[in-house]
Amino acid sequence: MELHFWGAAQTVTGSQHHVIWEGRNILLDCGLFQGKRAEAEWRNREFAISPSEVDAVLLSHAHTDHTGVLPLLVKKGFRGPIYATPATADMTDFMLLDSGHIQEADVAFINKQNQRRGKTERLQPLYTVADAEQAMQYFETVGYQQPFEPLPGLQVSYYEAGHILGSIFMVLEWQEGGRTRRLGFSGDLGRKNKPILRDPIQLDLALDALIIESTYGTTDHPDPEAGLAKLRDVINQTCDRTGKVIIPSFAVGRAQDLVYWIHQLMNANEIPRIPVYVDSPLTSNISQVFRKHKELYDAQTLGFIAQYQNDLLVFPELRFVESVEESKSINDYRGSAIIISASGMCETGRILHHLRNNISDSRNTVLMVSWQAPNTLGRRIVERQPYVNIFGESHKMEAQVAAINGMSAHAGKSELLAWLEPLKGRTGPIYLVHGESDIQAQFRETLLQVGHPLVHVPRRDDFFIV
Ligand SMILES: [Zn+2]
Repeated sequence: MELHFWGAAQTVTGSQHHVIWEGRNILLDCGLFQGKRAEAEWRNREFAISPSEVDAVLLSHAHTDHTGVLPLLVKKGFRGPIYATPATADMTDFMLLDSGHIQEADVAFINKQNQRRGKTERLQPLYTVADAEQAMQYFETVGYQQPFEPLPGLQVSYYEAGHILGSIFMVLEWQEGGRTRRLGFSGDLGRKNKPILRDPIQLDLALDALIIESTYGTTDHPDPEAGLAKLRDVINQTCDRTGKVIIPSFAVGRAQDLVYWIHQLMNANEIPRIPVYVDSPLTSNISQVFRKHKELYDAQTLGFIAQYQNDLLVFPELRFVESVEESKSINDYRGSAIIISASGMCETGRILHHLRNNISDSRNTVLMVSWQAPNTLGRRIVERQPYVNIFGESHKMEAQVAAINGMSAHAGKSELLAWLEPLKGRTGPIYLVHGESDIQAQFRETLLQVGHPLVHVPRRDDFFIV
């Protein structure tokens, strides 16, 4: 077997690893590179191999940086199966349609600008909504720990990764020279004690090679459950001031965790029963997928549902806002409320309206639940700049700003090391992907120090033999 590293090599997005086995080609993930426009443009249009020569795609989970160029792969000639868990397939459907819509809208905006400036150049979207719909035809769903053969003689098993709903890590297994050989691929490795999700499975097999993510190879996160107490305090303090809690959140995972926590806090009478608005169509759609896949909940979540005889992400105070009119009408609500909206870094989407309407009122709180990239509105809010620009207008920042830092869906340094510990002495080379290069270099040193003898940090277009 040959490993051909391509996407998410010394960077954190655009996951795409090419495996060559007996002259056939498989892609492990097929994700969108997210970065500056010019770089994203060429990176996302290049594949590790001509799409028509790819025999199958194995998907680890639905995040766009792992699935987001599938429509282009199909558009350029891929016709094989895309293997995913049922929850990943359901979620990817919504996410690719959303992504296709964004690609079309972005290009339309730029073309309009160009036209106004007298430029004749017209850009083409990376793919369209129609391309996204086309890609979904190639999905084949597979269950957890139910081995399947994407190629005759190559067996693959998917295991719970505990990262987002439907996420897996995988083991590829084949016979060679009379012995069983195995390649592991972590996808994005999750964490224990995440709300709703089951814990990641501990792999206990000898591997000939392992490709593992390294996003947080140098840092640890606070315990996920510490966030619950912080959320309770922020809501109570804001209600005491008769204010609103505005939460910018990513659509997948983070938003559902928050809604589930709010439901728990209300049922335990730890916060008042105030209206909760989820104002993001994608978040609403993803929440439907969460409700559909009860088989993936952990024991605590199943216990909560049984105790209160309700569904996950359903309670009287909770409203999934659909129309733009309804979204605007939230502003007329005078009492305390919680508003969860996208995008997570406050760059686009309905969150901008809620921030504009609420950021200059000192009774309100903007609650951040994820890291905010430099040069985003979210970062400027976290930095508590006295004025922020929203829709081209300057707004005085009077609202309180709070943050919950423990909600990451990725294993931190100690969690990665703990997961790797039982594999020590029975694993061939470890290949680090999905991390910034300086973090990978440090994590590699750590791994060598704790007794993993062979650790590589591959670059784009590097080949290795397994
Ligand atoms: Zn992910």
